[in-house]
Formats: sequence, structure tokens, C-alpha cells
Amino acid sequence: MVWVIPVLDVGYRSTHYWLVGSGPKRLLVDLGWPGTLGALKMALCRAGVALGEVRYGFATHYHPDHAGLAEELKREGMALLVLEGQEEALGQMGQWVKPHERYLPITLEGTFRLSFTESRGFLASIGIPGEILPTPGHTDHCVSLLLDDGRAFTGDLPREEGAWDNPKALASWALLRRKGARWIYPAHGPVRPLD
Ligand SMILES: [Zn+2]
Repeated sequence: MVWVIPVLDVGYRSTHYWLVGSGPKRLLVDLGWPGTLGALKMALCRAGVALGEVRYGFATHYHPDHAGLAEELKREGMALLVLEGQEEALGQMGQWVKPHERYLPITLEGTFRLSFTESRGFLASIGIPGEILPTPGHTDHCVSLLLDDGRAFTGDLPREEGAWDNPKALASWALLRRKGARWIYPAHGPVRPLD
């Protein structure tokens, strides 16, 4: 399969950070572990991408392995997209991290609120055909990026086959299918087809 929109994995520590798009307007899906900007810089360097090209980013949800570097990345020039329903969780990040992890609390500076309906227009403006969808199931504020080519970046959404007792997750999978998801790019584990 040859994809038109490039996607790079700049992850580390068993977590994928997906960098979507090309050139100076790339979008980072999930934002590193707390205190690990050096590790992210190294992963970007291996992928041949300058930190300054990471112009936009969002967290699929606000847990330490998904939003740990949000503040550092904003200071490096990244605009943080906060989806509707995520505002409260953003402020609660601190409760999940330990002092030695050197977590920088996320301020409102450099954050941009985005509704799900606005997401398609915003993504189009940076050359990425797709949309961001609400996909609760792991947390209530979880979101996924779905590209129009069928690739879905689903964060920690529990796998469908194991989610028989999780109606929110099942509804999220139903939404992703209805919208055309065909390949799943999770935050942990291998990329897989959605059959
Ligand atoms: Zn995770």
C-alpha cells in the first residue's frame, strides 16, 4: 500500500507517537512521556525531522504517556489542539505524574480549542484530509484521528474483541467503521487492519 499522506512513528518506551503530514506543518498525535524531550528529539532526528516542523499536536487523551511533553512542545513552537471535552482532563494531568518525572503543567498559552465539526476544515488547511472523532472507551475524553484513506489513530481505545463489557468502546468502534476506518494505528502495539 502506498499512502499519499506520510506518517512517521517517532515513539519510544512502548508508545507510538505518530507524526502525520509533511514539510513544516506536521501534526503530532500524542505528545511524549513527561521529562523526555531529549528522547523525542532523538526519535525525530532518526526520522529526519526537525523539532520545528512539529507545528501542531494533540493528545488522544491526557495521560502521562500521551500528553507528558505538551508544555515543552508548545514552548518549542507547537500549537496544542484541545478537542471539545478535553479541557478538564488537561488540568488534571498533574494527578497522574510523580515528582521525579519532571512534568511541566500545561498552561493555556499556545492552546487552541477545536470542535469535532471544525476538525476537518482545520486539517484540510494543513494538507491532511480527515477528521478528529470522539472515541470514548478508555477515558471519556479520548479522541481519534481518522484520515480519509482509512487510517485511524486510536490512542488507547480498547481492542474491539476484548471490549464486550465496554459499551462506550464498542460505540466508538462502530463510529470509526461507519466513517471508513480500515487500518488501526494504536498508541501501543502493532498497526493492524480493522476487519
Ligand atoms: Zn497509553
